[in-house]
Amino acid sequence: MSHTHAGDRAWLHAAIDALEREAARSADTHLLKIELPGYAGIDFYFKDEAAHPTGSLKHRLARSLYLYALCNGRLRQGQPVVDASSGSTAIAEAWFARLLGLQFTAVMPANTAPAKIRAVEALGGRCDLVDDPDAVCARAADHARRGACHLDQFGLAERATDWRGNNNIAESILGQLAREPHAQPAWIVCGAGTGGTSATIGRYLRYRRLPTQLCVAEPCGRSFAQGWRTRCEDASACTPTLIEGIGRTHVEPCFLFAVVDAVLEVPDAASIAATWMLEDIFARRYGGSSGTNFVACLELAAGMRARGERGSIVTLLCDRGERYAETLFDADWLKAHGIDPRDWQARLAQCLAHGNAPLSADT
Ligand SMILES: *Cc1c(COP(=O)(O)O)cnc(C)c1O
Repeated sequence: MSHTHAGDRAWLHAAIDALEREAARSADTHLLKIELPGYAGIDFYFKDEAAHPTGSLKHRLARSLYLYALCNGRLRQGQPVVDASSGSTAIAEAWFARLLGLQFTAVMPANTAPAKIRAVEALGGRCDLVDDPDAVCARAADHARRGACHLDQFGLAERATDWRGNNNIAESILGQLAREPHAQPAWIVCGAGTGGTSATIGRYLRYRRLPTQLCVAEPCGRSFAQGWRTRCEDASACTPTLIEGIGRTHVEPCFLFAVVDAVLEVPDAASIAATWMLEDIFARRYGGSSGTNFVACLELAAGMRARGERGSIVTLLCDRGERYAETLFDADWLKAHGIDPRDWQARLAQCLAHGNAPLSADT
């Protein structure tokens, strides 16, 4: 007869306890408010997910994925852990592996920002770098066949998050807005990497019976936009992107198209110019996907302004900009990748001053 060992259950309980205590020690992230002169009557809020201990919104996801693996009996004492990641998730998962005393391997595309690779290694994680970015999930599955627990962010993100509340990102945002002039935002804007954040926000808006619409900000020609438009699960990207964390090549299992009201496609040069602009606004650096979100916010705000609407728009600052010092904030790197954000910088500055729509041709 085989049975689980009492010691296994004791370790499991201690591991879950360690995760709950980490959550109790952590503060919620700030909801930063700004007003932009051109868009009078519209309040902009930025949820600062860079403020998590591991520097990105993936801190929430990593905590949920470990808890989900533990509560499903998939993760045992001494078992190695693996996941495929473009970096932010790997950093958070390495951090929690250290907390739980587990060995962690991140399978990453070889072209991931070097600072992210160093961050995983500094936390005691290993990096298995793969040349073909589309091969990372298959490589993680190889590790799992050899006995590792696959946290599987792309397969499980939308399930691992408690969508009805439990301080998920949507509940946190709406709680923080409660006493604001427009407590029910017109729009919430986020990107789609795993799709977990957009699924959580979209479900929660319905659950709470709010009129708020959800917009996914996507690099031009990537799979969420393609798939959402046609509701096609086989859609794939038709243009490359330099924005990390979002803009997946293929439709991921956690993409929930039905809860997304709009998708706006943003050229990389615009995202990068907007990322630089966020540094001017907040006096600190954020990553490229925050810039993509910002451009989409301005586009939606211009539409509201044109229709004479007032209200609020909420978006996310997804990760810290320090990680991109050698990429998005490096002029030579951008030049080598054929990107010059200066025209977009001028255009966005015009938009901020006059309330125009950055992505529409006639402004
Ligand atoms: C993962 C990620 C996103 C997208 O979030 P998902 O919940 O995975 O869709 C956006 N920006 C960054 C920097 C990310 O790492």
